Parts: sequence; C-alpha cells; structure tokens
Amino acid sequence: MKATAAIKSRDAEASWNDADELKWAVRQWAARIGVKTRQIHVRSMKTKWASISTSGRLTLNTDLMSIPRELSEYVIVHELVHLLAPNHGKVFKSFLSAYLPDWEERAEELKKQTNNNFHSER
Ligand SMILES: [Zn+2]
Repeated sequence: MKATAAIKSRDAEASWNDADELKWAVRQWAARIGVKTRQIHVRSMKTKWASISTSGRLTLNTDLMSIPRELSEYVIVHELVHLLAPNHGKVFKSFLSAYLPDWEERAEELKKQTNNNFHSER
C-alpha cells in the first residue's frame, strides 16, 4: 500500500485499527512535515488527546482509535506541528493550514466528540 493513499483517504467512519496503525500514521506525517519523533507511546489518558515534548516524545491517547480517522489525524498533525511552533500563534496556524487545509472544521468536530483537550492548554 502506498503511504500517501491511506493519508488521503477520507472515510469519516473509519478509525485506526490499532496502535501500530496509529504510529504508522504519525511516522508518515512526521516525514511529510519534516520533523522527527523520538518515541511514540499510545496509552490511556483521562483528559488529553495527546502530548508532545520538545524533544519529540509523543504520547497519544488510546481513545484516538475510536474516533473518526480524520479527527485523530488532526490530533497527530497538531502535535507534530508543535515541534515547529510551540504555541498556538500565527505561525502554528499557518503550518496547520499548509498541511491540513480543513483543520478548523476537524478541530470543531473533535470538540463535539468529547471534552478532551490537547495537552494541558485551557
Ligand atoms: Zn496544541
């Protein structure tokens, strides 16, 4: 299977099947964005979708496997873009728009899914 084919698929109902698929998606996106993740962990978290350290250590919530793929994809891209822009300012948003032009719709939809936040932002 070609890497780009899966990333482009927009089957709203489909979720990533397991942690390996989720990690695979992270690697594809990291390559595309041009950032490096050092470790990818998938574990259960109560209030966060994901978190990333400045050194590239990414932790993803297992719940990402039970929401539509395009939403978890947004979470992944959001976290990876933080390696380029640490806060949510203009630079951050312009990177997001470059890689996921419809990120704002996805962010809205994600909010409806649960009360989870990104990292520890308010
Ligand atoms: Zn963020």
